[in-house]
Amino acid sequence: MMFFRVCALMLRRNTFGEVWCAVVTFQRFRVNFSVQRYKNTMLSSRVVVVTGGNKGIGKAIVQALCRDFGGDVYLTARDQGRGQEAVASLSAEGLKVHFHQLDIDDVASIAKAAGFFKQKYGGVDVLVNNAGIAFKAADTSPFSVQAEVTLRTNYFATRDMLTHFLPLIKAGGRVVNVSSFVSVRSLNKCGPRLQERFRSPDITEEELTGLMEDFVALAKEDQHKVQGWPDTAYGVSKIGVTTLSMIHARRLSKERPNDKILVNACCPGWVRTDMAGPKATKSPEEGAETPVYLALLPADASEPHGKFVSEKTVQAW
Ligand code: NDP
Repeated sequence: MMFFRVCALMLRRNTFGEVWCAVVTFQRFRVNFSVQRYKNTMLSSRVVVVTGGNKGIGKAIVQALCRDFGGDVYLTARDQGRGQEAVASLSAEGLKVHFHQLDIDDVASIAKAAGFFKQKYGGVDVLVNNAGIAFKAADTSPFSVQAEVTLRTNYFATRDMLTHFLPLIKAGGRVVNVSSFVSVRSLNKCGPRLQERFRSPDITEEELTGLMEDFVALAKEDQHKVQGWPDTAYGVSKIGVTTLSMIHARRLSKERPNDKILVNACCPGWVRTDMAGPKATKSPEEGAETPVYLALLPADASEPHGKFVSEKTVQAW
């Protein structure tokens, strides 16, 4: 009868995060030596990815996660220089933070980042979709332009992020989509047909995306208001983010029921950042509290899931 024993002599991770293992196989009359490459998930750390992490609420989320998340924290930013600057300032506080370029408006950049996290970590444990834009109230760009540009980043690019990253979320993972209270206010300003669809448990991602496209098209013809849409591009984009979070939560519960992944949308509050200005009531650190709470929901938590959360409390939708 063939007899053999395997002895792993040395485990090592190379610069790409791959795990290499020197193996000695003892067989009767023979000793074999081989070096094998193992799936790099074997010894990898847990990992959290934050979009738009170079300033504002995103940077404060990264800062809090560096302290409280047990694993590797990735600050991502569309601009390499601004991202590295933020990493340097957090490192100067003694925090350990990693960087990866990620422009959510650029599908190639999203795909490259997703490939990196899959290769290095075998997936992602926590994703915080924080990146977003808003035109200033004083901006004189035509509403049609504001609608197209705002929806492109806040809804369509966030959706592209989720298309690439949702399949990478590991069992027990958390997805936090930074929406806004403006989504609730804007939902309540929609006509009854739209309100019913956005609240419906059977709305699909395709239907939602079609509705977001309709809004942009109607805005170009100045027809959005007569068709029951509110007069706010930012508000509609965040209705999209909140509704998409609910759709994805339902889908994950159905398709991966044992993985206990929790997906939520949230509002950080009114926060003093470049977006909201100096009169806002919260500091970026205070604004990070609810997103970080959702990112760090304990392993045995089963809720909130598919909810809109503000001040760490589930809100009516
Ligand atoms: P800031 O304008 O301060 O920061 C926005 C961040 O998003 C920046 O890092 C910006 O990068 C990044 N970003 C924008 N577009 C992209 C993109 N295409 N790819 C990657 N990153 C991008 O805003 P806040 O910190 O205030 O906002 C953060 C989130 O919170 C947003 O989703 C916002 O809608 C939401 N929010 C904010 C509130 C507030 O009161 N501040 C209230 C409710 C919600 P860059 O520096 O390169 O522009």
